[in-house]
Amino acid sequence: MRVLIVEDERKIATFVRKALLEAGFNPTLCATGAEAMELTTNERFDAVVLDIMLPGRDGLSVLRQLREQHNTVPVILLTARGGLNERIEGLNLGADDYMTKPFSTEELIARLRAVRRRMSGEGLSVQQYADLTLNLITREVVRAGRKIELTTREYGLLEYLIRSPGRVFTRSQLCEQVWDYHFDPGTNVVDVCVQRLRRKVDEDHSVKLIHTVRGVGYTLKGAA
Ligand code: CA
Repeated sequence: MRVLIVEDERKIATFVRKALLEAGFNPTLCATGAEAMELTTNERFDAVVLDIMLPGRDGLSVLRQLREQHNTVPVILLTARGGLNERIEGLNLGADDYMTKPFSTEELIARLRAVRRRMSGEGLSVQQYADLTLNLITREVVRAGRKIELTTREYGLLEYLIRSPGRVFTRSQLCEQVWDYHFDPGTNVVDVCVQRLRRKVDEDHSVKLIHTVRGVGYTLKGAA
């Protein structure tokens, strides 16, 4: 798994690189956004670990340009503690995950492996998480052996969430992906749909799968 690490703090960069090498990854280091753009344009990576605080152009602007160029390489952002706004902006720009500094390399490795699992899950006709199964062709949804009837939007939302378990999506991301229109902060369509989905998917089960991440959005995962 080829991982590009974009981090100007040399100590962190070499530390992460060493940990990834030991875990069997193939890491490449660079220290600026300009180098990151050049490398991602000319080479193929399986994931990018992207620090937001970089000299010159910052990580968010690199991420924005990657997505504008339709580069879908999974991106894990490194953010400062307390940087809630930049985390939300990063998720809205299409980051796959984020880690708050200081972080443990074990956790970063676990998240990189999760990214790889999600990527290799693409193209399957059945998505499964815990006891919940979605058939992407027949659109049949089953939890613990019992069929669940969903509306088109509810199904769309659930399918989007189950494709990336554990990943937190903001309301505006969900609105753009599932409803296909630009998010209006005054609307509560996403929240209303999540509530209905919860009633159908989670109500009769002790393990809840759809979770609210306060101040950020929603995620599908098992019991915390
Ligand atoms: Ca930095």
